[in-house]
Amino acid sequence: MRNHTFIIVSNRLPINVARENGTLVFKPSSGGLATAMSSVGMDQDKMWLGWPGIASDDLTPAEKRRITRELRKYQCAPVFLTQQQVNDYYDGYANATIWPLFHYFQHHAIFNRDQWQAYKQVNQIFQKAVLRYTNPEATIWIHDYHLMLLPRMLKKELHNSSIGFFLHIPFPSYELFRLLPHRADLLKGLLGADLIGFHTYDYARHFSSSVQQVLGYESKMGVVTAGYRAVVTDVFPIGIDYQKFAEALHTPPVKEEMRRLKEHYIGQKLIISVDRLDYSKGIAERLEAFDAFLANHPAYHKKVSLLVIAVPSRTDVDAYRQLRDQIELAVARINGKYATVEWSPISYHFKNLPFEQIVALYAMADVALVTPLRDGMNLVAKEYVASKQQRPGVLILSEMTGAIHELPEAIPVNPHDKPSIAEALARALKLPVAQQKRALLGMQNRISHYSVTRWAHDFMQQLQRASAAAKELRRRTLSGATQQQLFNDYATAHNRLFLLDYDGTLRSYVRSPDAAEARPSPALRRLLARLAADPRNTVCIVSGRDRDTLHTWFGRLPVILIAEHGAWVYRNKQWAKTAASFNEYKHTLWKPLIEYAERTPGATIEEKDFSLVWHYRGVAPELAYVRNTNLKHDLRLLLNGTDIGIYEGNKIIEIKPSSIRKSIKASELIASLQPDFIMCAGDDYTDEDMFSVMPDSAWTIKVGPGASQAKHHINSVDDMITLLNRLA
Ligand code: UDP
Repeated sequence: MRNHTFIIVSNRLPINVARENGTLVFKPSSGGLATAMSSVGMDQDKMWLGWPGIASDDLTPAEKRRITRELRKYQCAPVFLTQQQVNDYYDGYANATIWPLFHYFQHHAIFNRDQWQAYKQVNQIFQKAVLRYTNPEATIWIHDYHLMLLPRMLKKELHNSSIGFFLHIPFPSYELFRLLPHRADLLKGLLGADLIGFHTYDYARHFSSSVQQVLGYESKMGVVTAGYRAVVTDVFPIGIDYQKFAEALHTPPVKEEMRRLKEHYIGQKLIISVDRLDYSKGIAERLEAFDAFLANHPAYHKKVSLLVIAVPSRTDVDAYRQLRDQIELAVARINGKYATVEWSPISYHFKNLPFEQIVALYAMADVALVTPLRDGMNLVAKEYVASKQQRPGVLILSEMTGAIHELPEAIPVNPHDKPSIAEALARALKLPVAQQKRALLGMQNRISHYSVTRWAHDFMQQLQRASAAAKELRRRTLSGATQQQLFNDYATAHNRLFLLDYDGTLRSYVRSPDAAEARPSPALRRLLARLAADPRNTVCIVSGRDRDTLHTWFGRLPVILIAEHGAWVYRNKQWAKTAASFNEYKHTLWKPLIEYAERTPGATIEEKDFSLVWHYRGVAPELAYVRNTNLKHDLRLLLNGTDIGIYEGNKIIEIKPSSIRKSIKASELIASLQPDFIMCAGDDYTDEDMFSVMPDSAWTIKVGPGASQAKHHINSVDDMITLLNRLA
């Protein structure tokens, strides 16, 4: 079974299994996602894993085997869950915690530890299921908020897989997301993926901001640096199966339904409201807006009809039951207020309509009133537009939907502003037909191009690209035969030189450079002493740190120290300094730096003999961005025409003479020692400078992810230490 090369994972399968009159029935879904997924990975050995829709407590072992067998015909495999697991994970954590919070319904969000445990447990069950079916190098596409922990769980076991995750709901602003007690776990879970997709740029931006603020991971140009992995985030607005809607208009059942609607609503304008019954959809608010419309426009009495389709959803969750009562009361109240013997303004249906009826409704409706308070995308709006073809119609669309970005020709409304929805309705009912058609055509052009299958292909393509970059990094990772070659070179050499950066190479970064934990551990000192004790080895620590610090830490070891990127060199128990001068600039630079630091909580300034350093590791990322931009601008004005440069490192900006560089001192050492083995390791831009002057035979090693001139790559400081330990 462990051989499928393309795995799709979602909470539910595209086939629903239910028990009807005692027997199991299998109903395939015709939804957009099923269409999209069937169009990708066609040349692969594909498998879709998910819950089949029936609790395992209701099933005998023989029935489970039958379900597994039957589903295999559809390239699906079941993930069995008990009723309790479904209650706690699906109704509970997924739909009573994540769903409300991610839709900005903070007051509906429940924070329950047992439900969180169930969520973790079910994600683990999914992990095991995937591991049972997957090839170790498979492409795995995980869908949605039910499975946010799964990418990491899988990546841990399947380093060489390509994992994509798509979030079908909004990702909220950090201000909301930070309320989640398990926010860090969820983010780390997602970051197991190689590619994370969102519907809109805003959601992607919110995600990156949360990652920065909760985990401290940098994010640049859609790439999050998560430990030693680079994770790509990108935007893929999901589309619909456009042709299916356009073509359905010509089928007899749809035509028949359209004829029936035309007859029924003769002499009336038809307004439709179609959604799952969910508080995020703003149905109650929409009804009140319709009430306001009727109150303000009596001329439309008996001339309009609002048809409300509320599809039953999550009926086991309390908030949904209450909402249903609230909506039904509102319908009764408004109908009671305006209805006459022959006319009732609202017709309400709590049911799921078959596809043909929905398409006919879309085609015949004069206005679609789509006003969710928050919606990740909203497909109803796109389906309405697609089902119109040449017919007129007006789409009124909430600004709080993801779809608004692709449907700007709609009449936009703020779903909380009921009077303006009422006005939008009045405008829509009066809009000239030519204008209606023009707006529809613009929208149709856009959404017909980016259909749901295009969306899926686009995602798959970007996933291949993201994982190719990850594979390239793995290829450069020093291991296996290459590492053996390094050991061989080392063993046969007689005059070896180690050029080792300190922070980020021998020691992980800490919050502040002078923090106690930045000091080398006794173990690290012992390691360097052992390495340096071999008469064939010259060990040189090449650091940006000041000479006093390096002297205190390493002065008693038989090693060469290069401080302040080459401004000072300690060799044969003596410090020698560079000819460059910096003092005259210090005074000028000090004042603006101090002023910036005083109004930037978390920022510190470090003074060295030949440089000043602005440290912003402790600053809130967005504030740091603003301050850094302004600071660099001010400094550039001050330093214009001088040989003093502004350099950006790992959460620092350093100002120093451009003639002081690690490469210069490293080259001098190589020239004087004439080594037959060089290992040069580092992690940031100052080390890149060193890599660039190394002879071809040198072992250049970049620690951590990111592009580099180094030939080899090592994941972490720990891996670097392990390597040195093996050599020593
Ligand atoms: N829909 C349905 N039966 C109905 C009414 C609507 O299956 O009676 C479908 C509709 O065609 C659309 C989906 O439900 O594809 C709703 O998707 P949307 O993105 O608008 O909202 P979601 O329910 O995903 O939050």
